[in-house]
Amino acid sequence: MSKTEQTLSIIKPDAVERNLQDQIKQEFKNKGFDIIREKKIHISKEEAERFYKVHESKPFYNDLCAYLSSGPIIVITLQKENAVIDNRKLMGATNPRDAEEGTLRKKYGISIDKNSVHGSDSIENAKIEIEFFFNN
Ligand code: UDP
Ligand code: MG
Repeated sequence: MSKTEQTLSIIKPDAVERNLQDQIKQEFKNKGFDIIREKKIHISKEEAERFYKVHESKPFYNDLCAYLSSGPIIVITLQKENAVIDNRKLMGATNPRDAEEGTLRKKYGISIDKNSVHGSDSIENAKIEIEFFFNN
């Protein structure tokens, strides 16, 4: 059974730098997502470290946090039925090289680190991530 959910998307610095945000937002709308909230922000390294805390023990953690805080990002709350899984499908594999044709990371991603978009990986994490950026 499907039900309306929310998920968090981030348009990462590499995509904002190339001014791809309107194109990517249109891709969400074309797939039936409603954009509930969005804002352009530039987070600190410390905020990125808190956001990606789950990856703390990974070898790429420091570079990942430096990267997410390297320039402006757009954080977006997306809503539709099965939003979490459908956004993951629309994004494609973490490494753009492995991402399927038509996915955002295939179309826009540059490399595994500069892969243009973030998306929550579970309903539980979506709630935590939305709260992280829109906690008012
Ligand atoms: N990442 C990286 N190197 C790796 C694996 C991941 O730079 O070997 C980065 C990549 O930008 C990814 C983010 O860390 O989007 C979070 O990794 P995760 O495994 O959660 O991938 P995602 O959920 O974003 O597909
Ligand atoms: Mg992830």
